[in-house]
Amino acid sequence: MIIVMKTGAGREQVKAVVRHIEAMGFKAHVIHGEDRDVIGAIGHEKKKMDLMVLKTHEGVESVIPISKPYKLAGRELKPKASVVKISPEVAVGGGSFVVMAGPCSVESEEQILKTARAVKKSGAQVLRGGAYKPRTSPYDFQGLAEKGLKLLETAREVTGLPLITEVLSQRDVERVERSADVLQVGARNVQNFALLKELGQLKKPVLLKRGMSTTIKEWLMSAEYILSEGNHDVILCERGIRTFETATRNTLDLSAVPVLREQTHLPVIVDPSHGTGVRDYVPPMAMAGAAVGADGLMIEVHPTPEQALSDGAQSLTLEMFSEMMEKLKPLVELMGKHL
Ligand code: PEP
Ligand code: MN
Repeated sequence: MIIVMKTGAGREQVKAVVRHIEAMGFKAHVIHGEDRDVIGAIGHEKKKMDLMVLKTHEGVESVIPISKPYKLAGRELKPKASVVKISPEVAVGGGSFVVMAGPCSVESEEQILKTARAVKKSGAQVLRGGAYKPRTSPYDFQGLAEKGLKLLETAREVTGLPLITEVLSQRDVERVERSADVLQVGARNVQNFALLKELGQLKKPVLLKRGMSTTIKEWLMSAEYILSEGNHDVILCERGIRTFETATRNTLDLSAVPVLREQTHLPVIVDPSHGTGVRDYVPPMAMAGAAVGADGLMIEVHPTPEQALSDGAQSLTLEMFSEMMEKLKPLVELMGKHL
């Protein structure tokens, strides 16, 4: 339920409503608006009508049910777009266009430093790189784990770029949190609810990729798991879904971007690398992502893609990345954002 306070309602009145909500076994989320506060009361659906009693509080203007199942991710309770701060300099949403770039996997010091320096020079604001890799085959390269995280930290020290890296299992959350500025949840873990709940306890941003077969509604419910635990810094990343088409690795569902804009206040970025699986298709689909109004991109880049230990076929060379960024700049500006 949304409890809309009257304009001019005082702090004490808000506190009294929050106490009442909690006493009834619901969680209260206070959102301070420009002219009034609203309080979200989230809890058991079956008991929500009991909250109507809050109407009798002084300072309450109205009590309205939230129609969508994603109470905190939806726009009913929080109409204004969220901005997720990654570092003192970088925030996703709110008019910026953030490019996260780097190799699929961290492979060596030379590889990550060379890539980090190059993508920074071309205008990327965040360095990506996997240390724990979700591979289809258990015999494929699984990532450098601890060593990979240390190499990423070195790259951050050298370039100043904040880091995003994937957390594969609940077991690694604490360790990955220590190194990463943003924790990535990959497509395969989008409905790992135990992992999502644990990430909801953190104070670091989480980038939640869409699963290969999750609907937008299911994806938003996954975001809700993180938000409902108290972590409000969630970024969504469209990375393609499975369809009957085989010419591309996945089908990049760019229509998800305007749908999400309507349904959620959370920022949305697009990953055309996993979305297409083919290097030559990445720049045009990156442009399309910017044109459809995404808040940024995630791009796989490798100094020698033909030697990459994972996802080489979809990784851009350093030169291709630099060219793509040059083309993107005027388009991003046309879309009213800045890169
Ligand atoms: C990745 O970012 O390298 C990755 C494994 O992505 P996804 O989870 O989208 O497949
Ligand atoms: Mn990859």
